[in-house]
Amino acid sequence: MKITHISAECYPVAKVGGLADVVGALPKYQHDAGFTSEVIMPFYDNKFTKNSEFSVLFTSKLNLGKQEYPYQVKTLNNNNLGFNLYLVDIPELLFTDYVYSFDDTDRFLAFQIAALNWMLTWDEKPTTVHCHDHHTGLIPFMMTQSKDYSALKNIPTVLTIHNAQYQGWFSHEKVGLIPEFNFSNVGLLDWDGSINPLASAIKCAWKVTTVSPSYMEEMKKAANGLESLLSHESAKCTGILNGIDWEVWNPETDPYLIGNYNINTVELGRDVNKKWLCSQYNLDFKKPLFAFIGRLVGEKGADLFPKAFEKALQKSNISIFLLGSGNDAVEVKLIELKKDFEGSYNAFIGYDEKLAHIVYAGADFILMPSRVEPCGLNQMYALRYGAIPIVRSIGGLKDTVIDISEKGGFGICHKEVTVLEITEAIERGVKLFKNKTTYNKIRKKIMGINHSWDASALAYINLYKSLNQ
Ligand code: ADP
Repeated sequence: MKITHISAECYPVAKVGGLADVVGALPKYQHDAGFTSEVIMPFYDNKFTKNSEFSVLFTSKLNLGKQEYPYQVKTLNNNNLGFNLYLVDIPELLFTDYVYSFDDTDRFLAFQIAALNWMLTWDEKPTTVHCHDHHTGLIPFMMTQSKDYSALKNIPTVLTIHNAQYQGWFSHEKVGLIPEFNFSNVGLLDWDGSINPLASAIKCAWKVTTVSPSYMEEMKKAANGLESLLSHESAKCTGILNGIDWEVWNPETDPYLIGNYNINTVELGRDVNKKWLCSQYNLDFKKPLFAFIGRLVGEKGADLFPKAFEKALQKSNISIFLLGSGNDAVEVKLIELKKDFEGSYNAFIGYDEKLAHIVYAGADFILMPSRVEPCGLNQMYALRYGAIPIVRSIGGLKDTVIDISEKGGFGICHKEVTVLEITEAIERGVKLFKNKTTYNKIRKKIMGINHSWDASALAYINLYKSLNQ
């Protein structure tokens, strides 16, 4: 079996969020399970590509409408990622220091065309083509509808929806950029008057998955306009919970940490990381430390953070640390808040992979008051590192965190995303922190919960097998 993943992100090559973590881990587990699993992604102008060596495998030109673009497919030399990695280098479109921007329609359409053109030349075609999110959402359409790709028509395709909020919409005026197809099937590209790559993939892929069972159900009621389409296509849709890379995210070996630890040395080990964090960011080590890591967007509840943090800091003797970036107005407010709560609140506005690892290892609680959370990886990293997750019960958070008031519970859950519920959840965390026996017991317990990719990677393999019978 040969599985070809096509994606805009893949850790450690280029990461914006959870998509990268999934595409950097799932193929590795599939490869370890004895299958050929590979990733095709864009060649960006970033630290990874600057510091690595590549060999050119293929040189050609692609057409985006009337415009011609030269491109190359490169492979990574000295690859120790655990799967084959291929990067599509289109210098005029993809070789940028960002992953996403305003010109994504042309960039990712060219990427998809280049990937398929190259695939046409392969002797051994994939057993399954696995597309991730809207950036690769036109591939199932092109493989089944464009005459250029008729040789790929019978290869099963899988779409995984990592986030249905973003759909890649563009105007029908740009339809000429898509390689020629039977125009009477243009409806397969359309949703609500626009070309919608995510909707098109839901219609054209052989199977559609998303990253948690609860999110699959929730999308039928709220999916940024795609609810009825997902309900209609529900027979081919399934939710498979993401795993985490058990090797990369291992507090015992994690090279980013100030001090490594395992389930037996958790108390001392976490203290070392918390001490460093508190000394770097002027926080009191003795107080319970609540942290948020992530994109500052409405889906994560970020607009409520300034008010919720203010209230929680006024009410309780705690520290809060935030690592993230996103909405400008929210960033400004979160920076302003530092003045009022010097010594008990701090924020790093930006992206920092090392710091994120230290926060999972040093913060006592990880906050995730998400409005939408398809799967969420932060809570799983928190569990693995012994930080207690405080989550809004939705999507993947609902599938992975049980409230301490319930049998077998280990986290703190709240129902709504409001300032009141966030501050009340923090207050429950404070109480738990004070009860040292229970707190320490829970820390050890959560570190033993296994969220590695083993089970989910197998679920994907079974899905591919069902398509190739
Ligand atoms: P999403 O994909 O919606 O952003 P996930 O919870 O699925 O959210 O994944 C987020 C991933 O991105 C995690 O690995 C998290 O640690 C990382 N991350 C998010 N923001 C930052 C940041 N500012 N600095 C470092 N890592 C971050």
